[in-house]
Amino acid sequence: MNFIEDYPFSKLCALKTIETTSFFCELNEINQIEEIVSFSKKKNLQILIIGEGTNIVPTKTFQGLVVFNKLLGIKKIDDVTIEVASGENWHEFVEWTVKHKMFGLENLALIPGTVGAGPIQNIGAYGSEISSSIKKITCFNLETRSVQVLNASECGFGYRTSIFKDCSDYIILSVTFQFKTDPKINYSYSSLEDEINKNNINKDNLSHRDIFNLVSKIRKKVLPDYKEFPNVGSFFKNVVLTKEEFNKLDITEEIPVYLEGDNIKISAAFLIEKFGWKGFREGSVGISDQHALVLVTYDETSGEEILQFSNKIINQILFMTGIKLEIEPTLI
Ligand SMILES: Cc1cc2nc3c(=O)[nH]c(=O)nc-3n(C[C@H](O)[C@H](O)[C@H](O)COP(=O)(O)OP(=O)(O)OC[C@H]3O[C@@H](n4cnc5c(N)ncnc54)[C@H](O)[C@@H]3O)c2cc1C
Repeated sequence: MNFIEDYPFSKLCALKTIETTSFFCELNEINQIEEIVSFSKKKNLQILIIGEGTNIVPTKTFQGLVVFNKLLGIKKIDDVTIEVASGENWHEFVEWTVKHKMFGLENLALIPGTVGAGPIQNIGAYGSEISSSIKKITCFNLETRSVQVLNASECGFGYRTSIFKDCSDYIILSVTFQFKTDPKINYSYSSLEDEINKNNINKDNLSHRDIFNLVSKIRKKVLPDYKEFPNVGSFFKNVVLTKEEFNKLDITEEIPVYLEGDNIKISAAFLIEKFGWKGFREGSVGISDQHALVLVTYDETSGEEILQFSNKIINQILFMTGIKLEIEPTLI
């Protein structure tokens, strides 16, 4: 295997960054993992598996081995069960499911990245989450040096989180999805329903392909293209508070809230826009003028500059409202 020293993250991730990793290699086949683990032990390096780098923020030189996931393959287990290698491109796989009449992922069209990264933060969009269609996940456990299979219920899925989110012990090798053959079409998300109404589409005749196309159309309209304006999608999570936590806040500002089960959800985009950050640029970093949740890097910049900028937003909103925004992507 080829282990390359001092490799730039700019070749591996969506953001424009000057940071580097001490070592880099590609993972093309599962049987290469033993060699990767031996190399990392010999050099005393932490292993970091990445996919397309659309949800990572390198904040400093990574003293470790970045493993670029290129594991490919889609295997049909039965008519409703599919095992997908973790390096497959997410959007292409979603399109594949729609084509093969396997339903449940169409609302997640056009989310960048790989299949294997999807469970890490339980990717979600337009009223749907990947976890609803996952049956099990096959991982390589770096601690025990063995393959481990986790059922969906063991993965700790929640809003933009899972047991994998803050734990680097697992390399996800494949994800097994269980599809429904005739699920209801899900257009509960307001902007999706608005788009349907705007186009005078008869809801009774909507197909899963229509939802896939509509979601793709909306995303192209509202989100800046990360290849043109380097970004990692939502940089901040929406805020979910219990009623007790919410009642303790001393909010003097008018802030819309949404009920989510027993909890209260506050739109991070609303807060960022309200306090004037949308479209604001400082040096090489800024908030997109297209979408308030999206932090954009304009020129090559350091992780420190990105963090300083995002901390200014977090601190100002905390000071003004008592609400603490959390960063969504993985900081490295
Ligand atoms: C324009 C844009 C829009 C986006 N929209 C959405 C959205 O609507 N909803 C949403 O949820 N996210 C969204 N994202 C975030 C991102 O697309 C997802 O988080 C995606 O799953 C990241 O995939 P990736 O392969 O690029 O992961 P990477 O950025 O390479 O990695 C992300 C994290 O996953 C870990 N990881 C990756 N692969 C594996 C593996 N095989 N095993 C173990 N750990 C692994 C990495 O170590 C890292 O911690 C968006 C990003 C962009 C740029």
